[in-house]
Amino acid sequence: MTPAVPEPDVVSTPEFGPGVLGPVARPDDQKLWDPAHQAMDPELRRELQDARVRALVRRVLETPVPLFAAKLEEAGITAPEDVRGVDDLSRLPATVKQDLRDSEAEAPPWGRYRFTDPRRGVRLGTTSGTTGQPTISVWTRKDLWIEYESGSRNWWRMGYRPGQIITHAHPAYLYGGGTLLQQCYEYFGMLTIWVPPPDTDELAEEAVRFWTRVRPDHPFMGFATGRFLEVATKLGIPLEAAGLTGLKAPIGFGLGRGGGMPLMTAGAECYSFVGGPCGVSAGAHLHEDWAVVQAVDPATGLEVPDGEWGNLTVTTLDRDNGLLRYDLEEACAIVHEPCPCGETSARGLWGGRFKDLLSCQGTRFQVAEVEDVLRGIEAVREPSLEYQIVRPHGGVGELVVKVEVASADPAVRAGARAAAVAGLRRTLGVRAFVEILDRDTIPRAGYKATRVVDPS
Ligand SMILES: [Zn+2]
Repeated sequence: MTPAVPEPDVVSTPEFGPGVLGPVARPDDQKLWDPAHQAMDPELRRELQDARVRALVRRVLETPVPLFAAKLEEAGITAPEDVRGVDDLSRLPATVKQDLRDSEAEAPPWGRYRFTDPRRGVRLGTTSGTTGQPTISVWTRKDLWIEYESGSRNWWRMGYRPGQIITHAHPAYLYGGGTLLQQCYEYFGMLTIWVPPPDTDELAEEAVRFWTRVRPDHPFMGFATGRFLEVATKLGIPLEAAGLTGLKAPIGFGLGRGGGMPLMTAGAECYSFVGGPCGVSAGAHLHEDWAVVQAVDPATGLEVPDGEWGNLTVTTLDRDNGLLRYDLEEACAIVHEPCPCGETSARGLWGGRFKDLLSCQGTRFQVAEVEDVLRGIEAVREPSLEYQIVRPHGGVGELVVKVEVASADPAVRAGARAAAVAGLRRTLGVRAFVEILDRDTIPRAGYKATRVVDPS
C-alpha cells in the first residue's frame, strides 16, 4: 500500500492525535486545569475582558444584531469607539429572558439576537419552558468548546480526573442540558454512564442495577438523587453496591440566612459552566476571561458592593453567539477578595431565582430554606425527602407544607409534624401547617420535582 497522496486544493482529514477530539492531556497533579487563564494576573484579565467587551460591541453594531444594537442606541452608543470596556456596561439597559422570547415571537423562529446564521451552529436546544414558551439556543463548535473548557476547569477543581467513571441522569432531546453535560464529561476524558432520568421506578431501577455492575467513582449527584435512594431501598439493593454512598452537598454554603450556593451556572441560554465551587473559600470561581459576571442593583444599573445580593447579570465574551448584559432575574453576590487556592478570579454565590421566592406573613424565603428544615428531621428524610409547599401568595395565613413520612407509627408522624412546625418557626419565623402524608403520595419526577403547588 502506498500512503495516500493529497490532491492539491482538496481537503483531507489529518491523522488522529492529541487535541483532535479533546484537550491535550496534562499531569494529574497539576493544580489547575488551565493555569494560564485561571491564575492570570487580575489586571491582565481585566484588560482581556475590556478588549473582548469592545469586540462584542463592535460585532453587535457591525453584524448587526438588532436586539442588542437597540439597547446600545438607548444608551447613546452608536459607534464601537463609544465603549472602552467593562466599566461602560453599567450604561446599558439589561436584557431579560422575556426580551429573547419576544424577539423570537416577532421574528420566528430565531429572533433578532443571533450573531451568526443559526446554520453555522451544530447543536440546538431549548430552555425547559417553565416560565413560558421555551427559547431556542444554538451553539457553534467554538461556543461548545468554551463550555467544555469551562466545565473541565470545574471537574478538575473538584478533584475529578480523566480516567475516572462518572454518571448522570440529565434529560435530553430538545432540552439540551443532557447532551451538553455528557459531551463535556467526554471531552474532559471521563468514562460516562448516562442513565435515564428516573421518571418511573422502572427507569430508576435500570440505573441502580447498572451501577451495581459498573460502579461510578463519584456517586450520582443531581436533582433526582432522592429518587435513586428511594428505589434502591424499595428493591433492597444496598446503597454501597450502587455507589450511592458518600453523597456531598456542594461546598461553599454559609453567607447569610440559608447560605448562598456556589454560582455554578448562568443558564444554558447564556453560560452553562460559568463557574465552579472553589473548595477552599465560599462560592464558585468564575470564568471571567469568558464572561463579565456582575451583581447589579436594577434601580441604578450599578454593581452592588462586594458580598451583597444583586441581580445576576452576565455578558458572555469571545463566543460566536454572545449575550450582552443579560439579567437572569436571579440573586447573586460577587466576592473579589483574593483566594488562597491559587485562582485569581472573583467568586460568585447564588441566592435563587426571584420568581421562586415565597412570601408569607411578611417574610420572603426560598424553597431550599424550607427543604433544609425538613431535611433535618430523620423521619421525614428517610429514605428520601418528598414534600410540597402550597404557594402562599403573600398572605398572613399559615404556610402549608405537605410531607411524606414512611413510618405508620402515629407517634413518629406526630413527632415529625411538630419538629417541622417548630423548625420552620425557628428558622424562617413563619407559622406553618404541616400535613403528614403516606409514602408515594406526591408525584415523582426524574429531573426537577414540582415543590410548589397552587392551592387546590
Ligand atoms: Zn479559591
